[in-house]
Amino acid sequence: MTETAPASPSRPTTFTTRSPATGEPLAEHPLDGPEEVARAVDRARTAQAGWAALPASRRRDHLLRWKKALATDLDTVARTISDETGKPAGDAALEVVLTLEHLAWAARNAARVLRRRKVRTGLFTVHQRASLVHRPLGVVGVIGPWNYPLFTPMGSIGYALAAGNAVVFKPSELTPATGALLAGLFDSAVPEHAGLLTTVTGAASTGDALARSGVEKVAFTGSPGTARKVMAVCAETLTPFLAECGGKDAVIVTGDADLDAAADAIVWGALSNAGQTCAGVERVYAVREIHAALCARVVERAGALSPGAGAGAAYGPMTLPGQAGIVERHVTGAVEAGGQALLGGPDSVRAPYVAPVVLTGVPEDAAAMTDETFGPVVSINAVADVDEAVERANASRYALGAAVFCRNGRAGAAVAARLRAGVVSVNSVLGFAAVPALPFGGSQDSGFGRIHGEEGLRAFTAVQSTTVQRFTPPIALTSFDVPAATRERAVRLARALHRRR
Ligand code: NAD
Repeated sequence: MTETAPASPSRPTTFTTRSPATGEPLAEHPLDGPEEVARAVDRARTAQAGWAALPASRRRDHLLRWKKALATDLDTVARTISDETGKPAGDAALEVVLTLEHLAWAARNAARVLRRRKVRTGLFTVHQRASLVHRPLGVVGVIGPWNYPLFTPMGSIGYALAAGNAVVFKPSELTPATGALLAGLFDSAVPEHAGLLTTVTGAASTGDALARSGVEKVAFTGSPGTARKVMAVCAETLTPFLAECGGKDAVIVTGDADLDAAADAIVWGALSNAGQTCAGVERVYAVREIHAALCARVVERAGALSPGAGAGAAYGPMTLPGQAGIVERHVTGAVEAGGQALLGGPDSVRAPYVAPVVLTGVPEDAAAMTDETFGPVVSINAVADVDEAVERANASRYALGAAVFCRNGRAGAAVAARLRAGVVSVNSVLGFAAVPALPFGGSQDSGFGRIHGEEGLRAFTAVQSTTVQRFTPPIALTSFDVPAATRERAVRLARALHRRR
């Protein structure tokens, strides 16, 4: 991002995005400051009142109209994503398709998931009718990353809107046009609720202004370091915060796994989107007896792929200009620490492109095994058995996704249950991301809270619990008029009941 056109010496008013592939300028975008953010939040707050008052079925219909508009303009949206991130057009189209699936699920399921539900009362509350309902929070601030600039933020935006909120969205400074297009399509598909979804553009200072703007929740996706900063700002006002951060996802391959299927999935999970996937494959633990055979298959498949901007390219450039340097540092460090490069090596990094790198025997304390590489690099280490694989997979300070390859799906699921990951696939990679009903998220440095699924809808609501008194209770304990003898009888009764078991 380049800031341009200073209106005053102190503050530029616009910034320029550039193609990650060529460095050529793409477009100018407003550099929104606290005033612009405050205006967007005010406008969103006004729109939210009308939106929350609608019957859930009307909100669903509006969101489905927006989905239809996105599907109709799929090519334009995919081209915008591709221009801004450098990912191939086909990958960008797939990102739009996944986004549509999630938006459809959120729109269609919000009324069922968030409806008022009766709950049972207890011995001393039989006179009450008790229920709970999930109410919208108000305005949600969404701060997004650049690697999946539509799919990832939609995990918050679509679900927050479906739950009756308004959203102010701050896309990454690398992908503002994708964010602006998303909000523009909403306004044209649902003009009667224009302003319900607004995009504000800029970098850290715009995100900071959004976190300070008085929104009722901040949903953040990005790196753990930035999450800590935004969370500290939210802490000042006790603004609820949801963090979807990075990962260092491990794949475990057992001795009886289908090695061709495992190699195919590992290569795709590690290299697609140039490895810039939060739940992409970065580490593999393969039991010793199949380790060499698996490595050979991965090298053969990965060696046939190359990055570029043309039609034959398997993936595009590193989107973030500085990322190639991090990848080079990880690969060099792994080799210097005793790891072996089975395919490529430090020379594979030719910014903005990085050719596939396959490593093995990398010490577990090397940066390539501990830090998010976020590039087309995979380390395949041998382990004695599944127990050691589980132990190593769980040793990371990240805990986002994982995968298990195993002949028997049920046995694979048993291994999955031992992994400290928020999302796990057996005999595939990233299988969970395409199932909208499945909550997505991690723990530790991978963040906390969940997007997607029922939890993802509830994440953008506050529970309101209600009791309605149906009749005057035989033992009214919430009154100063209760005789002491009645109160003592109630205590005796409770004690007798609770001592039984
Ligand atoms: P980043 O942390 O640099 O930026 C994320 C967002 O925060 C951007 O919009 C940025 O402008 C904004 N920001 C930066 N500083 C800020 C501040 N002080 N206050 C408020 N906002 C601020 O991350 P990135 O490079 O855009 O994204 C890549 C990271 O995101 C990777 O770590 C990746 O794993 C992670 N990611 C996670 C998921 C997930 O769902 N878990 C999905 C995609 C990406």
